[in-house]
Amino acid sequence: MAIATIDPTTGKTLRTFTAHTAEEVEAKLKLADETFRTYRQTPLADRKRWLARAAELLEKEAEQFGRIMTQEMGKPFEAAKAESQKCATACRYYVEHGEAYLRDEPINVGGDQAYVHYQPLGPVLAIMPWNFPFWQVVRFAAPALMAGNVGLLKHAHNVPQCALALEELFLRAGFPKGAFQTLLIETGDIARVIEDPRVKAATLTGSEGAGRAVGSQSGKALKKVVLELGGSDPFVVMPSAKLELAVETAVKARLINNGQSCIAAKRFIVHESVYPEFERRFVERMGRAVVGDPMDAKTEVGPLATEGIRQGLHAQVEKSVAAGTKLLVGGKLPTGPGTWYPPTVLADAAPGSPAATEELFGPVAVLFKARDVKHAIELANDSPYGLGASVWTHDDAEARQFIDGIESGMVFVNQMVVSDARLPFGGVKNSGHGRELALHGIREFLNAKTVRIC
Ligand code: NDP
Repeated sequence: MAIATIDPTTGKTLRTFTAHTAEEVEAKLKLADETFRTYRQTPLADRKRWLARAAELLEKEAEQFGRIMTQEMGKPFEAAKAESQKCATACRYYVEHGEAYLRDEPINVGGDQAYVHYQPLGPVLAIMPWNFPFWQVVRFAAPALMAGNVGLLKHAHNVPQCALALEELFLRAGFPKGAFQTLLIETGDIARVIEDPRVKAATLTGSEGAGRAVGSQSGKALKKVVLELGGSDPFVVMPSAKLELAVETAVKARLINNGQSCIAAKRFIVHESVYPEFERRFVERMGRAVVGDPMDAKTEVGPLATEGIRQGLHAQVEKSVAAGTKLLVGGKLPTGPGTWYPPTVLADAAPGSPAATEELFGPVAVLFKARDVKHAIELANDSPYGLGASVWTHDDAEARQFIDGIESGMVFVNQMVVSDARLPFGGVKNSGHGRELALHGIREFLNAKTVRIC
């Protein structure tokens, strides 16, 4: 796929980029390897200073960074600016906590001195998606750079300006040349980079298919890999929930980022006693969500990132409806330029149809009716994915059953699932493995070296 900026509101190609040649990639790998040897020795105080400077730039230039994000992938501009600011919080989090997370950990073995000594691994390849083009990258880069690793970014083909702006950001923040580099390469060239002995590990955020490919390439090369893949998160509403707040949050949780978030709520599992009221309010609110120009502050839903994604989503909706799934609102492909898709609600998903079994990566919600807690947990777990879950109940015993019973990496009670630098982020099942952010995130790309001294 061409590496290019294509404005999703018009479909026009604004800029194209030439992929790096094999020689250019070689030069970047060499530089990453050489930089790592010295960078790993830099005082933590320097790394903290550079990361703090990166945070300042992300805040100060949120408007410029936001503009590139919106132009390349169509998210509402207000959300794009907020994304840049959120990146600053991740940088500051590791400025504040990184040193403690990297400190030797004494272990009492009786007699001998023993401890775990944490060391960086080396150059790490990060393959990243377009949906949160800054946040996905920074949540990898901030802990990796703090730990003394160096980063090589292979960003999605449709966000090259974001990729280059991020490389420049870390350089301007003071990090040495080679500490964080962008590789403009095609998907077919990724395996060679993973195999390269100078690259020590890989991390991918993206689709299940890409995860399987990168997971097996990393396995073959015996390299550590973190996979943060898709999700079909349940949003469970029980009778004790505050219904108005649950509905309002459900809409927000489905439409966030134009519906293109791995942790967006996608399957709404509602107890039968509150189902009719939930459905009525939810459909009404989804139906009047403001769809439009992502630069307009009133817009709730901008265009989807690419025409391919829009066509894929619409095909999932049509196939589901043809199989007997009910269409409650939306579901019609708009005419004219741009990749908009209307907020859509489906219900009574036909068994085996995409609405019942697949991730819907756009503003399409599916409603399910649950008889009781057990049934709600069964429905929540009836998915190949296990990323996050949002549960709405004010019954503590019920909440504990959901926390224990839902197969996911994260459960949020009476709130939507969000990423936060202070909390580990990741999934189980086909949503991948490994964790990002918090203590768990920084530890993924460290050698926990056992030391025992007699
Ligand atoms: P992809 O998985 O195709 O893209 C994510 C990244 O992986 C991009 O950099 C892409 O490069 C790269 N990539 C794609 N295929 C391979 C491969 N075979 N080997 C190595 N790298 C690969 O995501 P899409 O853009 O197609 O989005 C569609 C689906 O991805 C969604 O339906 C959702 O399931 C999932 N997704 C999940 C996200 C999450 O946050 N968990 C984020 C985005 C998507 P290139 O762009 O050059 O193809």
